[in-house]
Amino acid sequence: MRTVDPLHVRLLRLLRDEGAVSRAELGDRLQMPRPRLLAELERLVSLGYVAEAGLAASRGGRRSTLVELSPRLRFAAVDLGASSIDVELVNGRLEPVAAYAEAADIRTGPKVILQRVNELLHKARVDGAYERLDAVGIGVPGPVSFRDGVPVSPPIMPGWDRFPVRELLTREHGCPAVVDNDVNIMAIGERHGGVAHSVDDFLFVKIGTGIGCGIYLSGEVYRGTDGCAGDIGHIQVDAHGPMCSCGNVGCLEALFSGAALAKDATAVARSGASPALAERLAAHGTVTALDVAGGAVEGDVTCIQLIRDGGRRVGGVLAGLVSFTNPSMIVIGGGLAQLGHILLAEIRSVVYRRSLPLATGNLPVVLSELGPRAGVAGAAVLASDVAFGEAS
Ligand SMILES: [Zn+2]
Repeated sequence: MRTVDPLHVRLLRLLRDEGAVSRAELGDRLQMPRPRLLAELERLVSLGYVAEAGLAASRGGRRSTLVELSPRLRFAAVDLGASSIDVELVNGRLEPVAAYAEAADIRTGPKVILQRVNELLHKARVDGAYERLDAVGIGVPGPVSFRDGVPVSPPIMPGWDRFPVRELLTREHGCPAVVDNDVNIMAIGERHGGVAHSVDDFLFVKIGTGIGCGIYLSGEVYRGTDGCAGDIGHIQVDAHGPMCSCGNVGCLEALFSGAALAKDATAVARSGASPALAERLAAHGTVTALDVAGGAVEGDVTCIQLIRDGGRRVGGVLAGLVSFTNPSMIVIGGGLAQLGHILLAEIRSVVYRRSLPLATGNLPVVLSELGPRAGVAGAAVLASDVAFGEAS
């Protein structure tokens, strides 16, 4: 890989995030000498990254010409979940031009899943969403070596350990690719276009089938030595708790996650403790975590209590993380964010009670703004960053 010129990447990011900008304003914003700026822009135009966009409004004197990212630029953003594939094609400004979503079981292995991803991307081309791709960004539900572009010992992804995901996508689409963990891409998406916009230190907590945390420190994602930083679902919260899928006992996600909540919900439906869930069990034969949300909205006391118990567990772990990292925001996302304000209120109350007052003086705990789109939004940001780096 060539050496990345940070100024150059800043220029392209500025055009990505703000649209058409005049040459004069670009020079001011980047504090780049005009001859160097003009030479850079000329090179980026010839490489197909930047295009002319007409004349700027007059600032007195000669009118400056506007430049923007080429309208032809296309990035592919892919979010693989335990049971889903989400794909978006976006333009240079990261606005979606096509989207595809379907169910898929990650356990069927990398060959089957990535073949399906490639089929969806080829379909997007046939549909007219792009002529050629400039980069692909993909998130997977497990630890990733960001440097090597491979998943590393992912517990819920048999057959994916060190599978060359980045290499395969690069070969198939003839462009750079980047691989990251699913929670990290959600955090990146939320920071680019969501509630954590431009916040440099925050935690993004995904509560879904499992629980994970994306960590932003000083404006960068912190991934750890092996790519598993933020794997908070396996922090022990009860030494006498139930067995976890990881083989340990009493992990946070063994007590509260989509899977754990569905199990608890089934138990209270069978015992009759929750009339709302008993009714759903009788009607559908199963109950899910989202049925608990429905029950809580109807005022079912047991459903509300299940959500509160879960919020208390998550809040207890987050209180420790707040003391440790002193973030300026906590964002709650993932499927169980649909448990909404009862969950949020409980997490808040525990975090505020147990963390140091200095760390929580101004600490919003909020729901994700991008919701189910957070993952693809972040994968698109990563894809554009890697493409801009390669353009240096
Ligand atoms: Zn565990």
